Amino acid sequence: MTWSQAVAEGPLGDAHAQLAAAVGHLGYDDGTHQMLATPRREMQVAVPLRREDGSTAVYSGYRVQHNFSRGPAKGGLRFAPNVDLDEVRALAMWMTWKCALLDVPYGGAKGGVAIDPRAHTTLELERVTRRYTSEILPIIGPEVDIPAPDMGTNEQTMAWIMDTYSAAMGHTVPGVVTGKPIALGGSLGRAAATSRGVAHIALLAMEAQGFKASHASAAVQGFGKVGRDAARFLDDAGVAVRAVSDIDGAVFNKEGLDIFALAKHVDATGTVVGFEGSEPIDPAELLTLDVDVLVPAALEGVLTGANAGAVQARIVVEGANGPTTKEADQILTDRGVLMVPDILANAGGVVVSYFEWVQANMAFQWSEQEVNSRLKERMTKAWRDVVAFAGDRSLTYREAATILAVQRVTEAHRLRGLYP
Ligand code: GLU
Repeated sequence: MTWSQAVAEGPLGDAHAQLAAAVGHLGYDDGTHQMLATPRREMQVAVPLRREDGSTAVYSGYRVQHNFSRGPAKGGLRFAPNVDLDEVRALAMWMTWKCALLDVPYGGAKGGVAIDPRAHTTLELERVTRRYTSEILPIIGPEVDIPAPDMGTNEQTMAWIMDTYSAAMGHTVPGVVTGKPIALGGSLGRAAATSRGVAHIALLAMEAQGFKASHASAAVQGFGKVGRDAARFLDDAGVAVRAVSDIDGAVFNKEGLDIFALAKHVDATGTVVGFEGSEPIDPAELLTLDVDVLVPAALEGVLTGANAGAVQARIVVEGANGPTTKEADQILTDRGVLMVPDILANAGGVVVSYFEWVQANMAFQWSEQEVNSRLKERMTKAWRDVVAFAGDRSLTYREAATILAVQRVTEAHRLRGLYP
């Protein structure tokens, strides 16, 4: 078995297959392929926790730095029970392509702790975050690797990481993380940036497919960091958001949900379930509803060989990372569904993370309007790059986006040369 065949199932298998297709298209040699497929640095740590009741537990933590060719590694930190090294490897590779596609000067990284944040108190999560940070401290830093929020983490998590790192350095280092609270140097517009980017791309995709936003409908899976504001921005643009879901259930309204009222309901109750202006549906049904646009904005691997044939949407905009398995991607593409890949659709978060890091480096704050307009400019440019590249070569948008990104990373690698 050669290195390139030693590929895992699941997200890592899908990520490797996407890379292999891009490398094949570009005609790169085996050595270049291996260089692109292999993470530069991986760290696995034990994260012991003393719980509030005095008992102890030990969790597994990971940080994978996939690539540094274009700059410091960049990517989120996820707290989720099923996180494992292969998942983090896949997510780190996707971050490399995402940063290159959006032309932000970073490589890709991802971190994870295999913990259910819902099963812990705030104090316990603080202890886990600080211990994880101190374990990976030697390999992070504003010029090395810059974590950010992802599933199960938030701006408070970033504040704890920044504080732990700063305490070790002996001075405050705001550039070590992005997605911080505004009061600690977070960027205006960062919290909603991923969602804003998803909505920009969804609207561009609708326009390209001849859908008028005010006559279009959508379903959004997930009502968290990405889905909630994506639903709001789509609603603001006149799209009827017919269904949304969260971990507890899904709600539906054929005329379109009142997203503002739904958000208030979620703030009060913690879930979309029981929202007055809606009827409950099976969360699995959300993916196959009769809507124009489907936005999976929760977990990876939700569109599979088993349900892809039943998807009725004409456009899928990947708000989550890796929500479509390789098999489902093939089925949906063959059925003529426009697949807008994660590394384009959800890149708004890392784009504004980059803006936050730039502001931290300059010790200066931009207005929210400036952040939002720069974000829109970058998302639109990346969309146009992908559409033009795909059109010229009869590629899918996922193929085009991956090839463009892989090309940029390889060019940087070639220019730098191989040391020694
Ligand atoms: N976790 C987000 C992502 O998957 C943001 C990463 C970042 O801002 O570094 O793109």
